[in-house]
Amino acid sequence: MENRWDDREASACEGELALRVYASRLLGRDFSLVLHGGGNSSVKITERNLHGEEEEILYVKGSGQDLAFIEESGFAPLRQEGLLRLMRLDSVSDTDLVNAFRLQLTRPDAPPPSIETFLHALIPHRFVDHTHADALLAIMNTENGEARIREIYGGRLLVVPYAKPGFTLAKVFSDQFTAGAGEGVDGVVLMNHGIFSFGETAKASYKKMIELVGMAERYLEAKGAWALPEGDEPAAQPLAPRLPELRKAVSDAAGIPLIVSARKSRLGSAFARRRDVSEVSQLGPATPDHVLLTRRLPMLGLDAESYAEAYKRDYAAYASSGLEGGAMLDPAPRVVLDSEIGLCAAGKTAREADMAGEIYEHTIEVILRATALGGYRTLQASEIFEVEYWGLERAKLDRKEKVFAGEIALVTGAASGIGRACLESFLERGAAVIGLDLSPSIVSLYERPDYLGIECDVTSDDAIAGVIEKAARRFGGLDMIVLNAGIFPESRDIARIPAAEWRAVMNVNLDANLSLMRECYPLLKLSPRGGRVVAVGSKNVPAPGPGAAAYSASKAALTQLMRVAAMEWGGDGIRVNMVHPNAVFDTGVWTEDVLKSRAESYGLSVDDYKKLNLLNTDVGSSDVAEMAAEMCGPLFAKITGAQVPIDGGNDRVI
Ligand code: NAD
Repeated sequence: MENRWDDREASACEGELALRVYASRLLGRDFSLVLHGGGNSSVKITERNLHGEEEEILYVKGSGQDLAFIEESGFAPLRQEGLLRLMRLDSVSDTDLVNAFRLQLTRPDAPPPSIETFLHALIPHRFVDHTHADALLAIMNTENGEARIREIYGGRLLVVPYAKPGFTLAKVFSDQFTAGAGEGVDGVVLMNHGIFSFGETAKASYKKMIELVGMAERYLEAKGAWALPEGDEPAAQPLAPRLPELRKAVSDAAGIPLIVSARKSRLGSAFARRRDVSEVSQLGPATPDHVLLTRRLPMLGLDAESYAEAYKRDYAAYASSGLEGGAMLDPAPRVVLDSEIGLCAAGKTAREADMAGEIYEHTIEVILRATALGGYRTLQASEIFEVEYWGLERAKLDRKEKVFAGEIALVTGAASGIGRACLESFLERGAAVIGLDLSPSIVSLYERPDYLGIECDVTSDDAIAGVIEKAARRFGGLDMIVLNAGIFPESRDIARIPAAEWRAVMNVNLDANLSLMRECYPLLKLSPRGGRVVAVGSKNVPAPGPGAAAYSASKAALTQLMRVAAMEWGGDGIRVNMVHPNAVFDTGVWTEDVLKSRAESYGLSVDDYKKLNLLNTDVGSSDVAEMAAEMCGPLFAKITGAQVPIDGGNDRVI
């Protein structure tokens, strides 16, 4: 267990809250301690209120904040006295609890406080750290978990039996502390849940966490349960269209499109192929804290329908047992283990799918280590359900999704101009987006989980096959494609067009789009909401100009290709529409030279040429991109084969 504390870095922190932020980020950076929003931390600071009175304020991590990136504003400040008073009640409903927490906040715009706020309030030390350390989870999730924990820590830690987080757990915790069991201990272990450390300084509390978790790691080492096998090579090529088929089935079960991602994990692949995978993977999560993202059980194999049926049966049994909880979640799996495909993860967004995948990779480590200790054991299914269907927790998931959430868009020619603007429009609408371009800059345009930039020449069939495979592996398929890449050669009379130039224009503007459509078709057909194609044509189709024969002919042929596609693919629910832009000047097509020669061919100055439309307005690349995105959205749900000019109005087109 690496101690990442750096006195020099810490000395730059001004005040205790800044130190709280620093130490929290150290914890958050270590994925063997906390993962994606897991864990929490707090500090108690005495402050003076508006009346001049001193109050002890508990700054506790806000719900949904990630320790790795938390800022001071990510902590919720609550009056400690009010919290301790609440703890004296016999019981509080979830709704009352949320309200009561809010009323104790000293800043109304603070994030909602962590559900574990009471535990932080009850621990009488200034700094408190809480993690779900893998090493402890591996030890706790065994037959004699509690006895092993006591063996490792003796009296150094208070061991609290598992209870549902929230008021129930706080009561159990409170009883122990008021009975004096918390005196003189270095930390608290919550069975099947995690560990708390505390201290009077941020450094002391952090150091203790590292030391305590290190002891668990050494225990596992001593028992020969620390080292993990090397794992297997992840699935061999190709996963398209098998993964898109899986995504379709999973999305159908969910009733909404989901991103499905094949994980590169060697351990995950080996785990999916284990002979006992149907036993060890079906016992439950390492801690209920993971259940919303991973669901209680992963799906084995690729039959999402049967998984959903079983999920509904489990829920019905749970609901009839009289235990409290909210409505059922969508019955689709979030983790899939398949002997051929390996480990896959699903989510409403690429980030959610990644989080589920990473959490499950850690779960595999926990399962393997617990198995090496003698056998993986988890909480009762009913205890997991209690958290899975818990209204308070699910509220985190019940956000309003963006219009393209769970969907995947591909944009060609995306490093510049209209294509680049399309990336923005589709990302903004919640899609996972794949950008293709000749320019290497495409790869690093964004660093975010819902973006994949691929340097490629769309005129190469091999490159396109590679793109389809990458789209299938990373996001699980393709729902929308924007055929945008295009070239506009120098203005030339027909009598002077070399055959090679004609061919080059046709290759990019026409032939490549046929190849893309042909290769994307199997994936578009599997799109949960029906595939969508938008092609970027040109005003030159309805209203050609002299000097642009190759360009105009290529775009006219592309238009005809799209019209036929709309007819052929309507039966598959795939919509095909076109935009015909004109004079979009914030793009790479419009070099000074092109602008000048085009203006000349109209007998106009460059400035007049730029305003040459009925509305006397300039059309930007984002105007075209927004139209392309809308054509893929609900507004165009019943439209196919349409051609929309985006040109500020052109009398020749009209
Ligand atoms: P742009 O030059 O800014 O962008 C085109 C992008 O396509 C570039 O990044 C380029 O690298 C890429 N590209 C070219 N060939 C490629 C290939 N073989 N493989 C992969 N990527 C390739 O130009 P833009 O104006 O944004 O053009 C986008 C589309 O809009 C084109 O089809 C163009 O014909 C059309 N269009 C533009 C205008 C306009 O006024 N800008 C008007 C009508 C139509």
